[in-house]
Amino acid sequence: MTGPRVPSVEEEGESSAGATVGSTQRDREEETAQEHAPEISIEERRAKFGLRCAAQISEGQCSNPAVIPCQICQLVAYCTEECMKRDAEYHSRECPPPTEPPSRSEPTSEIPDDPVKDMGVFWANYAATDILNLAANEGAEYNGLLRVLLTGTFGLRHLIYSVVALPETTSPLLHVTISEMELPHLYRTLLSLLILRKGIEINMDPYEVADLVTHVWYSYKWPSHVMDFIKNQLAADFQPFTGEEEVYVLSPGEDPCRIYPYDSDKMPLVIGFSLPYWEAITTYLKETIDQQPIHRDREQDVNAYGEPLENAFARMSPSRVAGLVKWRQTGLMLAYGDSALPHVYLNPPDGFTHEPLSEWPMNEILDYTPYAAEADVYGKMVAYVREMLVKFQLRVKKKGILIKLSNAGTVKMTGQFKDCFVQYPKFDRIEAGHLFDISPPLCFLSFSPLLRHQDENPFATLLIMTRESFTNSETPRAKELKAAEKNKLFQPVSQSLDSIAPPVQSTDNKYSAACVHRHFALQVFDREWDMFSDRYLTDPLIFNFNMLEAEDLHRSIFQTGWLGLEFKKKNTVKPRWQNRLMPRTGKILTEEDATNLRRWMSWSTTKPERWLEWKKIGDVSWAKWYMYGYYIPFPHWRDYSARDLEFLYGFVTEQSEFLGAENEYENCDCGDWKRLNRCEHEHKQGPATSAEQEPAVPSEEDDSWMKMDSGEDSAAGGATEKSKQKKKKKKKKKQKKRAGKK
Ligand SMILES: [Zn+2]
Ligand SMILES: [Zn+2]
Ligand SMILES: [Zn+2]
Repeated sequence: MTGPRVPSVEEEGESSAGATVGSTQRDREEETAQEHAPEISIEERRAKFGLRCAAQISEGQCSNPAVIPCQICQLVAYCTEECMKRDAEYHSRECPPPTEPPSRSEPTSEIPDDPVKDMGVFWANYAATDILNLAANEGAEYNGLLRVLLTGTFGLRHLIYSVVALPETTSPLLHVTISEMELPHLYRTLLSLLILRKGIEINMDPYEVADLVTHVWYSYKWPSHVMDFIKNQLAADFQPFTGEEEVYVLSPGEDPCRIYPYDSDKMPLVIGFSLPYWEAITTYLKETIDQQPIHRDREQDVNAYGEPLENAFARMSPSRVAGLVKWRQTGLMLAYGDSALPHVYLNPPDGFTHEPLSEWPMNEILDYTPYAAEADVYGKMVAYVREMLVKFQLRVKKKGILIKLSNAGTVKMTGQFKDCFVQYPKFDRIEAGHLFDISPPLCFLSFSPLLRHQDENPFATLLIMTRESFTNSETPRAKELKAAEKNKLFQPVSQSLDSIAPPVQSTDNKYSAACVHRHFALQVFDREWDMFSDRYLTDPLIFNFNMLEAEDLHRSIFQTGWLGLEFKKKNTVKPRWQNRLMPRTGKILTEEDATNLRRWMSWSTTKPERWLEWKKIGDVSWAKWYMYGYYIPFPHWRDYSARDLEFLYGFVTEQSEFLGAENEYENCDCGDWKRLNRCEHEHKQGPATSAEQEPAVPSEEDDSWMKMDSGEDSAAGGATEKSKQKKKKKKKKKQKKRAGKK
């Protein structure tokens, strides 16, 4: 299971951990780019994603590729010296960008714990990641089924990133469930998936599709071509919401949910939303279609949530601040020098956006080439994201993918699941993202029952991202370390560190903007990340949930495990610190480190992301699981019922059966995926078409749908086992239909 793409093993095998990470990460990316990504030539990239010349000529903006940057701001670039001269008068109005904030407040005597206060984001403030890392786990030739659950907000970006990172040699059958709890996220994810699916189906230019999706994700307003596509091409896809197309209703409890399958050769999509969400999405869709062009300026979210400009100036270069200011004004994901098409329709709901960037890996965006304007981070981000979307489509066109989208709120999962606890769908990867930082017990209670046991798949992993372990101030030791860090703001530490971030000269030790750079450097280079973070995670006062096991009362669940889960000492899927770009204490810092520090300081979120990986080594009885759930206090989630979890389980396990399409997404015994016509064997029973079939709607008392066998797709299952399971399944299906007709 070791291979060239195992960053984590090298990273964590020795104490000089940090030093190797940067290079292994880079190696890995290079490899990804060369071997695994679908081919896109440099010329094509330049033509499709590259920067356009910023000069305004009589016909509008010059359309030639830009190659000569403005040397002062590096925010715009031109095709020729001639164009540069032609634009000089206009550009001189915004270049050089201002170096000072409009106002500055007095230094304070209170020194903050963190130099940069991360602001809210619309989607999620941690980077897209390859949650499969197949080459280092199941293997670069793996062709079996992989069930993936993405729940940590904006799961779609992880999906796109992971699919693009797949080795060309593998062809896993990907069943991906994305759960989005927030309505705006759910709505934009739905629109993006429908656009991608339609684009693939009608064989649209993948670059155009990527352009549409990028607007849906990130733009405050849409240009008319986005609205035209949604109105014209997606009209039929909205019929389930307008009542023109029948949907399936599940009523496992008092909370009915609606399910609709969008058929497709390459990208079948099944959606399942609870009734209130379904109705809200219907309203959003109606508002989207009916809206009139508007000319309102952007104001609300930026002023309410944006970082004060003086803070931005304290940590960013003037060009970077200029980019930020422009983005705040327009809210359009465009290159800095691009004149906007008329953007006239609000991106529902209400055009809401936050400063993006942090949802994608910082170094990959900043190093995006070919791109002439070095300082234009938003422009690079657009190019980068579009390229990812194009690669995703190319891959899906070749290999296919099954996606399910639901609104099951995993964070609310507390409940009482006697019936479906034993039989639940199991996932080979679960991405829980930041849910751990919100409520650790809930995170484990939710996902322990869903993770595949290591006996079935030794690589099955629950992936959790934590920032809290780095930012925490709860433990006495952390308080002590942070206080020491603050003292070092004004005193020399080491020649190496002091040379790239000198101590602040101050007579009164007050915290001024000048302190930000030094403070950040201390956190990055002087703090021992692993020790700092480990102390938090192994603190039994914070992480002892074993109140039912007398002998484990003094250890953290990171040491004892919990609910059948065991913490992996070494990550196998992710590097431990996703965005650690620099070596740590004791190393001589180089010019490159100083550059990385400046880059990182100007990123939209600056807290390190630590990935924690867990495997499933044991089973937990329902009774015990329930007891834990009952005794652990959930301050905010206490009142939520278990229905969300129930819904998710039901949706993930049973929906295809419900739709009378049980064969459609099943593996052939040869191991390939019938539905996507990837295997050449003759299959006796053709898939039943859901349209002809009466949907099986269970009566209220009938909860058999929750009890179905879920072992049908054990990753390791051999042919005999599979056919046996198929028979079993068919029998159950018949029973189900009967139940439905009652
Ligand atoms: Zn300039
Ligand atoms: Zn030009
Ligand atoms: Zn076959």
